[in-house]
Amino acid sequence: MIILVVNAGSSSLKYQLMDSEDGRVLAKGLAERIGINGSQIKYSRPGAEQLVEVLELPNHSVAMQRVLELLTSPECGVVETMDAIDAVGHRVVHGGERFAGSCLIDAEVVAAIRAMIPLSPLHNPPNLAGIQACRNAMPGKPQVAVFDTAFHQTMPAEAYMYALPYSFYAEHGVRRYGFHGTSHQYVAERAIALMGLPLEESKIVTCHLGNGSSITAVRAGRSIDTTMGMTPLAGVPMGTRCGDIDPAIIRFMMNAKSEDGLDIDRMDRIMNHESGVLGISGVSSDFRDLYAAADEGNKRAQLALDMFIYQVAKSVGAYAAAMNGLNGLVFTAGIGENTPALRAAVCERLGYLGIEIDAEANARRGEEVLISTADSRVRVYCIPTNEELMIAKDTARLATGV
Ligand code: ADP
Repeated sequence: MIILVVNAGSSSLKYQLMDSEDGRVLAKGLAERIGINGSQIKYSRPGAEQLVEVLELPNHSVAMQRVLELLTSPECGVVETMDAIDAVGHRVVHGGERFAGSCLIDAEVVAAIRAMIPLSPLHNPPNLAGIQACRNAMPGKPQVAVFDTAFHQTMPAEAYMYALPYSFYAEHGVRRYGFHGTSHQYVAERAIALMGLPLEESKIVTCHLGNGSSITAVRAGRSIDTTMGMTPLAGVPMGTRCGDIDPAIIRFMMNAKSEDGLDIDRMDRIMNHESGVLGISGVSSDFRDLYAAADEGNKRAQLALDMFIYQVAKSVGAYAAAMNGLNGLVFTAGIGENTPALRAAVCERLGYLGIEIDAEANARRGEEVLISTADSRVRVYCIPTNEELMIAKDTARLATGV
């Protein structure tokens, strides 16, 4: 089936038209600066140069309409008419406890995604705008929502509850939800297929290491714990997010700096945008810059890398304990797929689990590869993630009702 995969942000709309059977990408691109001056649409097809069209995009609906015109245009299109597009799959960030899997979108699902806005105020509103834009542009076309949180709905209560008064969970949904679920599920399924183990025996840790990073324990193909929490701020340090800190630090910092007007919004901005490896190094949130700076002797860049590696290794160890064993470890996303030195450094700390890395295999980047030796007690993989394919497959399955 030909599926349009849509990932709508507050001022952007990423799209990919793909064949859900073989994962072939027909065309993809990005509308950016929607509702802001200087908006544009990027559009690319395999074997052709990328088009960049500068035009006014007052809202997501106008952007979607133009994307559809490009996809069906006689000059640069890849399908003849919109009829060739079988269904649309949307990435939706927060599905709360309501969605443990993908679902066909109807008025009730839209209302449920809207009801989840308090849990994800930055992401669910633009996701809804993307859904509405597609409903306007393609009325009657099946549309499917694929949630970042859904894969983690199998976590047991002992893993997802916070030790706060129970009423905050019961009345407001304060609990761990976890994110990057589509990515964790995709790479875990790939690893299980590559390992050739019976599903029930598989105990895998998946490390999605990108601008945002999270680590998940996947036992028998099901998420049983993950480092992100009620929001994507929790867990290991990230590009600009602090990850786990002592919660009492927030009050302490606000009091210590109160004369400077460190209110809760400023605090939130510090923890989300000025912390992580950027905050520690003062250099960059990008790991390529950190490695370059550390190579030149920048100690704070080295410290940021060491802290990240330490926390990733610590999380893997915690999840080996949570699953009472480990037979697979996966690295994915921008950093996980492209940084052999970081993979090696994490694995060096995990020797006690019987992990041995094959230096030659580990030197490869951005491809699906076994990077552990034949003797390693845990099979370690680099697996490029493919959230779009996962979304396309779920969409095709739900749109055909099988
Ligand atoms: P997002 O979470 O925004 O999807 P990505 O998964 O693309 O992010 O990851 C972005 C991170 O990946 C950046 O910090 C960057 O340092 C890292 N990265 C991407 N490509 C490379 C590369 N070739 N070598 C090292 N790091 C890379």
